[in-house]
Amino acid sequence: MEGDGAVKLHDGTEIAADSPEGREILRHSTAHVLAQAVCELHPGARYAIGPPIDDGFYYDFDIGRPFTPDDLTKIERKMRGIMKQSQPFVREELSKDEGLALFAEQPYKREIIEGIGGDEDAAEGGGTDVVTVFRNKDWADLCRGPHVSSTGDIPAFKLLRIAGAYWRGDEKRPMLQRIYGTAWESQEALDEHLHRLEEAARRDHRKLGRELDLFSFPEELGGGLLVWHPKGGVLRKELEDYAREVNLGAGYVPVYSPHVARGVLWETSGHLRQYRENMYPEMELDQNEYFIKPMNCPFHVLIYGSRTRSYRDLPIRMFELGTVYRNERSGVLHGLMRVRGLTQDDSHIFCRPDQLVDEIVRVMDLTVEIHSTLGFGEPVIHLSTRPGKAIGDTEMWTRATDALRGALDRWGKPYEIAEGEGAFYGPKVDIHFHDAIGRLWQLSTIQVDFALPDAFDLSYAGEDNAKHRPVMIHRAIYGAVERVTGVLIEHYAGAFPAWLAPVQVAVVPIADRHNDAAAALGERLRAAGIRVDIDLSDGTMQNKVRHAEMQKVPYVLVLGDKEIDGGTLAVRKRGAGKPQFGVPESEFTAGLLDEIATRSHG
Ligand code: ZN
Repeated sequence: MEGDGAVKLHDGTEIAADSPEGREILRHSTAHVLAQAVCELHPGARYAIGPPIDDGFYYDFDIGRPFTPDDLTKIERKMRGIMKQSQPFVREELSKDEGLALFAEQPYKREIIEGIGGDEDAAEGGGTDVVTVFRNKDWADLCRGPHVSSTGDIPAFKLLRIAGAYWRGDEKRPMLQRIYGTAWESQEALDEHLHRLEEAARRDHRKLGRELDLFSFPEELGGGLLVWHPKGGVLRKELEDYAREVNLGAGYVPVYSPHVARGVLWETSGHLRQYRENMYPEMELDQNEYFIKPMNCPFHVLIYGSRTRSYRDLPIRMFELGTVYRNERSGVLHGLMRVRGLTQDDSHIFCRPDQLVDEIVRVMDLTVEIHSTLGFGEPVIHLSTRPGKAIGDTEMWTRATDALRGALDRWGKPYEIAEGEGAFYGPKVDIHFHDAIGRLWQLSTIQVDFALPDAFDLSYAGEDNAKHRPVMIHRAIYGAVERVTGVLIEHYAGAFPAWLAPVQVAVVPIADRHNDAAAALGERLRAAGIRVDIDLSDGTMQNKVRHAEMQKVPYVLVLGDKEIDGGTLAVRKRGAGKPQFGVPESEFTAGLLDEIATRSHG
């Protein structure tokens, strides 16, 4: 079946092997074979659930002890044996009682069967008393399918790792052993995937954050809260400086707001009704309820409302590097990518309805400018529409969605519609970028909001002297400074362009007698505004150069008699291979300063 591009299913139909559905069926079928192999190798094993997931599958087991890496090897071998036998996947329908009898020794399956009969099952057409199982040989699993036609139709798979997982994700229920694996339509596709996994592990921002001494998540702070170490602090400051510079240059004005505010603010803004589960719990002070801010928007609304506005004042584009706190579930926290305290490059634009499309197009242009400076390519754009939980009437949502669609059409780049993915107060455009290994990251959002100006009764005096309602655009282009830093670490694998590099130049003397000259060179570069590490430690020149390379410093200057006598530099540019000798210091300094000032990708 390898190479013919189609997966044959248990019911005789076919589906493209490399389609999302085809891969899902393949992976789910491999999960069955995994459970079958575990049951054959470990009599009495209890098996729980085994769904396909992004790029793979897992299955949860209880064998009375944790699996070992050696177990995984044996299980894989057993699975290959089962696949060689090409056992057909056979669908069967049982009554609930028959199902309970079939899984008499399987408490997790019994629990699932006992729960069958809800609306969801009725909607699937299964009725309330029907249990479907898939059998291959003597082994059966509770399952709706579909499956491939036989265990021989799985071209390529690999088991990846073991983890603990609570039954039904509930920490009060038993801890099960989860085996993760992946399956693909060809050995080639599997190999490519495994290579991507290796690359991703090499670039993992949590690992590089430690190795490059950028940040840490001390236990004492609590989940999702971090401290930025000096080197991470430099990186973050550069990102923030750039954000300020480019936003203020684009007509935004800086504003600031506090981290806490009274409940009445969040009542009016709708956050207490729509967003409370994401907010930190309230605090009591002077008989008032206070909340830590999960968003900056209401503060900017108050600034707008602090005086009367005329149509001539608009648009007003407020910009704040605003730190917000969100009560993300501990299970979704992930390094810098998902945190509980984050700083947004947040802006709110207040404009007249006739300015709306222009303003959105300007934001999209700015987004592409900023992300191309960061080193990303073409954006992938989604228009996200009204979610289930929303404020404002249908007419308002239609107007806001139309404005975004109008701006996207005028902008001319392709986009997709993401149904129901909008914010509770308005539809949004989500902008994603590919990193160096092809992964897609959502970074920027642009939202159109008629609801908050309404809720706070904002107005401006029109040309006709009557009161009019402004429209509000919410936008964040980095998204969060934390997240964009995490993405940049993985995109560059820690080898940042010079403008972002915490240390831009390492000066390495060859012998002790070159230390004074090295220190003097380092000071001259520092005085020019370059971030320099002068390595006067003990140790060989080779070790110092290696250390600087491990720290991914863009330029290493090795200084010996030849350089000092000749008044030139030996320049090792990161990734360039051979050093360049005899470079005049003034030429090196000017070149690097230009590279930094233009935020060149290096
Ligand atoms: Zn906002």
